[in-house]
Amino acid sequence: MKDVVVVGAGVVGLTCAVRLQEAGVRVTVVTAEEPGQSVSGIAAAVWYPSHTSAEPRVLNWARRSFDELASQAVHGVSGVVMRPTRMLLRAQNTQKPWWAAAVSDFRVVRALDVSPPFSGEWQFTVPTVEMSPYINWLIQRITRGGGVLLRRRVDRLSDVAHLAPLVVNATGLAAGALADDPHVHPARGQLVLVSNPGLHISVRDEDNPAGLTYVHPRSRDIVLGGTFEPGESDRTPSASIAREIVERCTCLVPELRDARVLKQVVGLRPARHGGVRVAIDPVGLPGGGTLIHNYGHGGAGVTLAWGCADEVVSLARQNQER
Ligand SMILES: Cc1cc2nc3c(=O)[nH]c(=O)nc-3n(C[C@H](O)[C@H](O)[C@H](O)COP(=O)(O)OP(=O)(O)OC[C@H]3O[C@@H](n4cnc5c(N)ncnc54)[C@H](O)[C@@H]3O)c2cc1C
Repeated sequence: MKDVVVVGAGVVGLTCAVRLQEAGVRVTVVTAEEPGQSVSGIAAAVWYPSHTSAEPRVLNWARRSFDELASQAVHGVSGVVMRPTRMLLRAQNTQKPWWAAAVSDFRVVRALDVSPPFSGEWQFTVPTVEMSPYINWLIQRITRGGGVLLRRRVDRLSDVAHLAPLVVNATGLAAGALADDPHVHPARGQLVLVSNPGLHISVRDEDNPAGLTYVHPRSRDIVLGGTFEPGESDRTPSASIAREIVERCTCLVPELRDARVLKQVVGLRPARHGGVRVAIDPVGLPGGGTLIHNYGHGGAGVTLAWGCADEVVSLARQNQER
């Protein structure tokens, strides 16, 4: 296959670069920010297809990513573990969600086992990633395989067309401007990181009327969430939102009552009306180069990245055979 330039070194661009390399391609990754400084470095980053639609294509991406991350957890890849999760349900309908097909041990626990305001719960084990070591691992894998990482902000995707005949656009939120796509928009997310008093299980109360509520333990801290604010792009943490997050999470998991607040963080999820765009650009690049888009993963970039990367490789192969 032809050489490739991947623009973007978030989780989406880096997983693409790995898969393309595995397919025998020489890869150059171009990134404006230091890897880890983009929203991928902030992600909670738990496998969970939040704010995605129940389409076979999305389920396929989610399943492939689940299987890849689960295998990485077994092989001791930095930052990846399988974490048991309880999703507490407020609605009377406790049926399995569409994405349960991707999860091997998914089970519905009946209302008898939980108390009001909850009507039941889902229990499942999913991959959870600590992004800082994971991004380092991805970069090492790419550079050890002969890939090159260039720090450079491009004004247009065609600026890198001279480097290779195929360009992958994995620029997240910036794809709105770079691909002239009005459907791309930020979905602000605020988190609070606290000390871990010894918790191991993720707990979610996604339908809490007071706001999205989740508790995700990690090796050294716990991620408390959160917010999902479409159209908001203020990156400054709000002290009042942080207080509310801590209150909601402590109410859900009382063991958090003495946990110390370590940090407040805000990230802008690269959301897109119409969902993730993985597609060959119909126009392409000046000079005849091919452009493949892979952006708009919103709050599920870690959850979908490996599946989308597989699709990029398959599009690149099809394009070559034309
Ligand atoms: C609070 C919060 C919690 C989250 N939790 C989860 C979770 O639990 N599970 C999950 O799956 N997802 C989660 N997400 C979502 C996840 O973080 C994103 O979906 C994912 O990180 C998007 O990755 P990306 O690679 O597309 O974008 P980014 O990480 O933003 O990467 C974009 C890359 O493009 C580069 N770039 C941009 N413009 C240019 C340019 N002009 N020239 C060169 N390079 C450029 C950037 O420098 C960067 O390298 C969460 C997000 C937030 C904010």
